[in-house]
Amino acid sequence: MPDRLPSSIPVLVIGAGVHGLSTAWHLAKQGRTVTVVDKTGVGAGASGIACGVVRNNYFQPAMSELMAACVEVWESDPKALHYHGTGYVALGPPSQEADLIEVYERQQRIGYPSELHVGEEQVTSHMRSLFGDWRAPGLTVCLHERAGGYAFNRESMLGLADKARAAGADIVTGVEVTGFDMDAAGAVERVRTSAGTVEVDQVVVAVGPWIASLWEMLGLPDRLDVRQPDGELAADQPMWTYWYLQEGEIGFDPARFITDDGLPSPVLHVDSDQPLRDDSGRLITSEPWGVYFKPDREGVQGGAQPLRVGHEFDVDPYPTGTVDLEFPDMWSAALSHCLERFEGCRSAYRQVRSGGVGAFTVDNFPVFDYMRPNVFVAADSNHGYKMIAVGREIARVLEGEHSSLLHPFRYERFQTGDLHPVSHSPYPWS
Ligand SMILES: Cc1cc2nc3c(=O)[nH]c(=O)nc-3n(C[C@H](O)[C@H](O)[C@H](O)COP(=O)(O)OP(=O)(O)OC[C@H]3O[C@@H](n4cnc5c(N)ncnc54)[C@H](O)[C@@H]3O)c2cc1C
Repeated sequence: MPDRLPSSIPVLVIGAGVHGLSTAWHLAKQGRTVTVVDKTGVGAGASGIACGVVRNNYFQPAMSELMAACVEVWESDPKALHYHGTGYVALGPPSQEADLIEVYERQQRIGYPSELHVGEEQVTSHMRSLFGDWRAPGLTVCLHERAGGYAFNRESMLGLADKARAAGADIVTGVEVTGFDMDAAGAVERVRTSAGTVEVDQVVVAVGPWIASLWEMLGLPDRLDVRQPDGELAADQPMWTYWYLQEGEIGFDPARFITDDGLPSPVLHVDSDQPLRDDSGRLITSEPWGVYFKPDREGVQGGAQPLRVGHEFDVDPYPTGTVDLEFPDMWSAALSHCLERFEGCRSAYRQVRSGGVGAFTVDNFPVFDYMRPNVFVAADSNHGYKMIAVGREIARVLEGEHSSLLHPFRYERFQTGDLHPVSHSPYPWS
């Protein structure tokens, strides 16, 4: 039991992940009295286990603009946030060309630093200018973002918590929110917690994959009708779907995962339609496949396409470790397929605490909105380790300002059909 929780809290933030901590940091900087409660601890959820990729590669204009703002926040203090601005490279086969060209065009319009290479020869030549041992065939489009990169998951959350505390926020761990007492208009008057009941003026819900339970406590619907952009109504859709993100690591000296210029590697994201074989020549798959990978503290970390779990999932205890037995073979083979230096890396695969579950919304994009008159919900649909600026924007909204960056993510879009465009990527978050 925590030693202190005031009986009245002006702004209560639930969840000490990236959104809760960033919100608290920015609110405290604005002089607001803010308390974060977390049932476990700082970075105990998805933010503390995320691969840590910070990229702008989004097909949706609103996502792209928001990510540009997020990169600015990461870049504002790389040391404290354990951020590495190495850039990000997305590579794809012909089927991804149109999407990546569109992403690139938009990035140019909003001034996001990136370059595009189209055609297999051009792509190979660009990748070999970075890595002399690059050898992935059949990739005909490459978007190289010169901003973004990655951060170390847990360390960055501890750094963010330090910033929030230094600005004056209180972070109380070991306190679980168990319910809300609302007035006739649906405004939350009191929050019930494992450490007693507290009176509140404002609440921010930022509970990552636990959102379905808090959503229910707020009396919000777990099914809804969704108006499609063409006006059609998709009736009675489940609000939440769980996906399991498969991720893993290989032990590999990070000093060897560098470019030929001696710089740390950018994040690499490869979608391919080429047959994938392991180092002994065994066919792993002849279906299209995709992986991402980046340097980590002691090796290389990354993942592959996620597995769809379904609409019901018990998030406690938070699951981790890879679920698909074939994942280590597939992911290691993909690394070796791309860079000769990873030949034989399967034997260095480590089953560590990586991978985990995410709760996706009905359209796979975030809901950042007031869901009760004084309750702002940050439900990022598992896009969000990189989205460190969302908390800054929430803090502005709580001050009564309008956020153009968050506006496209209002809940109302499901009724109005103002949905985000969908890409051809096999990932639910692109
Ligand atoms: C394996 C994996 C890899 C990922 N990789 C990336 C990536 O590379 N880049 C990227 O941008 N995104 C990535 N994501 C997505 C990203 O991690 C999440 O979208 C983001 O971290 C969610 O942040 P959050 O603050 O909403 O929630 P979380 O970080 O999950 O924090 C929620 C907190 O709420 C607390 N909590 C829950 N219920 C209660 C309650 N009732 N009372 C009190 N506290 C409560 C939990 O203890 C937890 O600490 C990944 C996700 C996973 C699962």
